[in-house]
Amino acid sequence: MKSLNDFPRVELGFFPTPIRRLNNISRILGTNVYIKRDDLSGLGLGGNKIRKLEFLLADALAQGAEVVFTTGGAQSNHAMLTAASCCKLGLEPILILMDRGVTEKKGNLLLESLMGTEVRFQDTDSYREIYAEMDRVGTELGRPYYKIPCGGSNALGTLGYVACAEEISRQEKDAGLSFRHIICAEGSGGTMAGMALGAKLFLPEARVHGMMVSEDPFDQITLDLMQGAADLLEADVAINADNYDLREMWGPGYAISSEEGAAAVTMMAENEGIFLDPVYTGKAFAGLIAMAREGAFAPDDNVLFIHTGGAGGLFAVEM
Ligand SMILES: *Cc1c(COP(=O)(O)O)cnc(C)c1O
Repeated sequence: MKSLNDFPRVELGFFPTPIRRLNNISRILGTNVYIKRDDLSGLGLGGNKIRKLEFLLADALAQGAEVVFTTGGAQSNHAMLTAASCCKLGLEPILILMDRGVTEKKGNLLLESLMGTEVRFQDTDSYREIYAEMDRVGTELGRPYYKIPCGGSNALGTLGYVACAEEISRQEKDAGLSFRHIICAEGSGGTMAGMALGAKLFLPEARVHGMMVSEDPFDQITLDLMQGAADLLEADVAINADNYDLREMWGPGYAISSEEGAAAVTMMAENEGIFLDPVYTGKAFAGLIAMAREGAFAPDDNVLFIHTGGAGGLFAVEM
């Protein structure tokens, strides 16, 4: 098997991100709840996409790209963090965003305007059309360009969360801890798939739970991304659906606040002074609360919640 160090990587974030015990939440839920602060990953307002972008933008640079395209909804955290990363690396970001959600200059769109990022909207529900538009614009510009898919979720981006699992395994050793359960949001899939593959490789005691925040076919998406990342690593592991659990947490739909999600945001803020967002981390944490209430965790279990960020969108979403 290859090592993660065999893949070129640009340094964008502050790693390792801290892990802390949530004492008040642990008391309320009757188990040991820890949080991994990937919202403090350094660039922009932090978030999970930085780990993927360290691999993806190294690849862009290796290919001689000058322009980087990516996409997402109007308030995409991934698009904002791609733009921030490009600013740091001297690449030119062009965001072709779906004309969906809050399109006023608020939240992530405000941050993009502060960075002088070129943002174009396309009125479509098809990412295929958006990727075709990237090729059209890139060809028209006549400069070398690189396309990053929605959420940075391809096999290479998924390595970012395999690396996160390896980082957690080192933090476990340093702290003399072992995590039984790891919980994260699943939005485009790379975080959860990387974590599930990474757990197989580096955290054999841990069970990974993906909290689905949209109705995409995550069974297949997760398996494909895990297999793609395992192939890149030449890892000899059997990938199947027994490697992880998925839970439906989208509520009324992607990017629409749910009652449980809003309650989870409030619970975290009131008890720990930490802010979650209603689109991803609030719904994911609501899944953790639901599991605790169903008795999925023993009192002496160590449960790790991955705070994947989302602060940029918090100021643009109705809640
Ligand atoms: C993108 C995102 C996620 C979901 O991660 P995926 O790898 O796309 O599944 C979770 N939380 C936040 C804040 C995000 O921006």
